[in-house]
Amino acid sequence: MKVHFVTFGCKANQYDTEKFRQELEARGALVVDDVRQADTVVINTCTVTNQADVEARKAIRRARRDNPAVQIVVAGCSAALYPSDYAAMEAVVGVVRGHDPLELAALIAPQSPLLEHDEEPIGAVLLARDERGTRGWMKIQDGCDRHCSFCATRLARGASRSRLPADLVAEAIGLAQHHAEIVLTGIHIGHYGVDLNHGKQKDFSLSRLVETLIAQVPNVRFRLGSVEATEIDDHLIEILADTGRLVPHLHVPMQAGSDNVLRAMRRWHTREQYRRRVLEISERLPYLGLGADVIVGFPGESDDDHAQTRALVDELPYTYLHVFPYSVRDNTVAAALPNHIPRQIATTRSSELRELALEKGLRYRRARAGQGAEIVVEAGGFGLTEDYLRVRLLGDPNSRLGQRLFTALAIENDELVAYV
Ligand code: SF4
Repeated sequence: MKVHFVTFGCKANQYDTEKFRQELEARGALVVDDVRQADTVVINTCTVTNQADVEARKAIRRARRDNPAVQIVVAGCSAALYPSDYAAMEAVVGVVRGHDPLELAALIAPQSPLLEHDEEPIGAVLLARDERGTRGWMKIQDGCDRHCSFCATRLARGASRSRLPADLVAEAIGLAQHHAEIVLTGIHIGHYGVDLNHGKQKDFSLSRLVETLIAQVPNVRFRLGSVEATEIDDHLIEILADTGRLVPHLHVPMQAGSDNVLRAMRRWHTREQYRRRVLEISERLPYLGLGADVIVGFPGESDDDHAQTRALVDELPYTYLHVFPYSVRDNTVAAALPNHIPRQIATTRSSELRELALEKGLRYRRARAGQGAEIVVEAGGFGLTEDYLRVRLLGDPNSRLGQRLFTALAIENDELVAYV
């Protein structure tokens, strides 16, 4: 059986595809890079915007056009929300409403019984190796208990569910055989452990998990995926500052820098709570790769709201930024809000923030030049530093692929370089 994968969306979705791949390979499947060689195509969908759903349907038609004999299975977040729409499409032989590798295997290779369950088990199926690159990704949690008004992800992935620390330690030990870095990802990792705690007892948390992983999984560095700033506890800051095993890089969604917009987004924190937490963290670390997601042009966003967002981006020590013009998502509270912002204004506001972010990023790279860095050597002659800087590598990087090296940074034409 030859299987080809198409994956959309976030790191958690890409991790889920790795689990799909591993499960099917364990049942004798051969993963092929070219859809024309495949018997089956698995399309792991995203639903973060309406456009993401459109891209999924396009991918199905494209696979059919490129290989008329192929059978298609649709999985992922969009499939979880629109199963019958996908099931009705030509060549689609099955729909996995989510990310359960056993459900997919039962559809494609029905050797084992299908597990009946409400929400897919977060489960103990361990990922042995991340075939996508030199860094390994580990999904520690799935789903979300928050209710941001623009988001459909939680509708697709359900309530927050954490994997057990013992499973994660076992998986990390396996991944550390192949990867110099493991990235802890999920949908809402700041809530890791909340569903495992009972009553007042707080035995489980993200910081405790990281502490356990560092203690029990040697020879690898850990990186946090996107995490909410207001959910980073003091213990996690200590680990960031003191261990050298959790890299000084944080991606902390801001979404907006005005309380008016944060309220409309149904975010649980204020501008000041976010601002203060980010400053507390960055002041504890000698240097920090700091990124954030920002949505501009959210319904009702005034010029003054945008000015407050711009001022916060200017004040906080960001080294990069992901800026998204608001995109309507059906079936969300935000879609029904009044005062949607004209596309042109949203585009202008996002270019303004992107430009500011590029300036801040360049200033940070110039400040890091001449200093030391711990680089993981990636393919294509580049490496990634602990503080999330991409560095062009001189010398013979291909002979050091996947290795973790200490080296000195230099800057050439505003680009960081290092000799390995
Ligand atoms: S925190 Fe908000 S944006 Fe993130 S997954 Fe949960 S509901 Fe969606």
